[in-house]
Amino acid sequence: MATKVRPELAKELKRYGADDFNACYNCGNCTAVCNLTEGNENFPRMMIRYTLLGLKEEILSSRELWMCYYCGECSETCPREADPGELMAALRRYAIAHYEPSGITRLIFRNNPLYILFTLLLAVLLGFFLLTLKPEMSVSRWIFERIPYEVIHNLGLGAFVFMGITAFWGVFTMIRKLRGKRVNQEQGKGRFTKAWNAFRAMLREVATMERYRKCDTYEDEYFARKPWYLRPWWIHWSVMWGFIGLLVATTLDFLFKDPATMVWWPSRVLGTLAGLLMLYGATLALFYRILRPVKTYQSTKLADWVFLGFIWLAGITGFWMEIAVFAGIETDFSQIVFLIHTVISMELVILFAYSKFAHAFYRPVALYFSNLERVN
Ligand code: SF4
Ligand code: SF4
Repeated sequence: MATKVRPELAKELKRYGADDFNACYNCGNCTAVCNLTEGNENFPRMMIRYTLLGLKEEILSSRELWMCYYCGECSETCPREADPGELMAALRRYAIAHYEPSGITRLIFRNNPLYILFTLLLAVLLGFFLLTLKPEMSVSRWIFERIPYEVIHNLGLGAFVFMGITAFWGVFTMIRKLRGKRVNQEQGKGRFTKAWNAFRAMLREVATMERYRKCDTYEDEYFARKPWYLRPWWIHWSVMWGFIGLLVATTLDFLFKDPATMVWWPSRVLGTLAGLLMLYGATLALFYRILRPVKTYQSTKLADWVFLGFIWLAGITGFWMEIAVFAGIETDFSQIVFLIHTVISMELVILFAYSKFAHAFYRPVALYFSNLERVN
């Protein structure tokens, strides 16, 4: 099949945050210095070529895009200051926007005021929806006198269904594109063993951040003087596992007990530890983005601020609720904090396919396909 070239892609990429890649003269230094390129992988240089030639399909079906953890080493050492690391990050935003089928992500990623408006409107809708589950609250009664309960409830359910379908569609689109690009399409019994080995290798990376640690060397840099618990790979690990732990704890709470009792219940202990871990990681990530000590933290996009800000707020409000339960504080303020916490948590989940959060699924999928090409 003929490859479609889109010269206007380079211009479009600027709206996703990539500015300097036109300066590239294809020397290959970035690929040589990247600690994560293995075998016949050729990133980030190949991604720059794809971008300059406007090869949209090559970009969207590229697993290499997700192999990069944006350590910034390639950008620091590029002789043309073409910032290949930032291009990789912008291409990931571009891919997230194009896997998601509704077009909403494309609109909001390219337009900050729209992003803020969309997030706020969704927060209001989710807040009202939440009140339909808590009709005994005084604010609920006040709202339902003005807007019918059914309208709010059905709108909320509609939003969940719509966003759930688009999230699955996004993941399915990505898998289809990455599968189509595979070179070694083996047949027979051996393929199940290979698939299992690839899956295990992917889980190992998710559990240990082995590759991120390899990337996270910073030999002559700000982070070289920092202990492991202040380094980017550990921050990433803390946020990810803190969030997963909280999801598990909330699900257990929902299934087995009323969350408003007994802080020593095992699911609550898990929630507290996971919350501390997530809050630690999110606080440090925000701190570095404000301090901007190295190149990778110098151009934080709105999508990054919103994602980290939500994570942080979800952690802080969650702890306030825990303290309020422990100390028996039942005030209007506690109800407001509960609303904020639940709305933010729901937004984090519901905006999965529309935000930076999508990488939490896309990266493991890409890792799996990358492992399939490698494992025996
Ligand atoms: S981005 Fe920089 S280091 Fe990479 S190939 Fe282009 S000029 Fe060379
Ligand atoms: S930012 Fe780091 S991991 Fe990503 S391509 Fe550049 S050197 Fe490799």
